[in-house]
Amino acid sequence: MPSYYSWNLPSKEVAIKTLDKSAFTHRGTGIPKEVRNYFGIDSMNLGTKKEVTLVYNQSQFKARLELGNPRSYQGKPVSEESRLFWYTDLERILTKLFPIHFDLFSDSVKLQDTMRPQLRFEKLSGKPDTYYISFVEPENPFEEIKYSWKEEVLKLVREIPSSQFSLNDINIFQPVLEKKFPNNSNIKPKIRQQLQFLRDDGYIEFVDNQGTYRKLFDNPEDYSYLEEVIEQVDVQRNYRVENTWSPQKVRVGQNQFRKRVLWFFEYQCCVCQFNLESLLDAHHIHPWNKDLDNRLNPANGLSLCKIHHGAVDQNLLHIDKNHRIKVSNQVHKTKNVAVKDNLVKYHQKMISDPRDDLELML
Ligand SMILES: [Zn+2]
Repeated sequence: MPSYYSWNLPSKEVAIKTLDKSAFTHRGTGIPKEVRNYFGIDSMNLGTKKEVTLVYNQSQFKARLELGNPRSYQGKPVSEESRLFWYTDLERILTKLFPIHFDLFSDSVKLQDTMRPQLRFEKLSGKPDTYYISFVEPENPFEEIKYSWKEEVLKLVREIPSSQFSLNDINIFQPVLEKKFPNNSNIKPKIRQQLQFLRDDGYIEFVDNQGTYRKLFDNPEDYSYLEEVIEQVDVQRNYRVENTWSPQKVRVGQNQFRKRVLWFFEYQCCVCQFNLESLLDAHHIHPWNKDLDNRLNPANGLSLCKIHHGAVDQNLLHIDKNHRIKVSNQVHKTKNVAVKDNLVKYHQKMISDPRDDLELML
């Protein structure tokens, strides 16, 4: 079978690319001269692009073929490059199918061909500029597939006896990780990165910026229980949280709630569009203590900056069923310019709408 670099051409209709770093981190791949004909690049003019369609599982994804201009490198002419690029929609599928490869390639880990997944293209007659694609699992699974970085680092975090810990406390486990991830030579930066992911997921929090962390769970069982509850949020549309939750669980649940609500409002205060995330809160429309069923329901949330959250809590600002902002009489009486600017100005204005037409429980 003719093969060129990481490409194979088993028949006139089929081309197979063994995926590399560029596919995972730059949403594209180079096309060697020998494979140009397959993609019809030979008929393109130098320096032009062409839209093509990739079909995966009956969904269509836009992509583009590019043929560059001739270049020179260190005074010598180099032939023009041809490439295929796709967009984030297909990238999401690729990273979901091969999360560990994505991890490794982002770390520039070198993998043998047999350990890499392949992208298979097929042309059907009568469908110009359309390629049916599928992914092929690597022939040889490799050691790292058994382990996920995040899970392994989380395990180590759990082995630390105290709830507060430092980067050094976790770095002493470096040899354990070196054994599990023999191909990675940047273990320390990788640990820091994973700690950030664990923070984003609500497992730990950063106490300061000097590498001090605090666990939000002491006990692995709490964690699996919570996972189930959080799962229900999406699957069963069950947003109830019982009062028996421990403070840590509630905290993590609230963290998830906050993230969801802020996402629905595009990380902006729905009153003033202030967008520094660290100063945004997720306000419960029906209070946490009164509506157990909707504690985690994003429809029960408003993204508010600290000022407007405080104002709503103090009944200085009210948002009615029609999404209209009402400022209290007390505030109206003020002569202070800053209060007028931050509160009075918004009287009778509408809050910004959440994404996806989420029906707010106002
Ligand atoms: Zn605001």
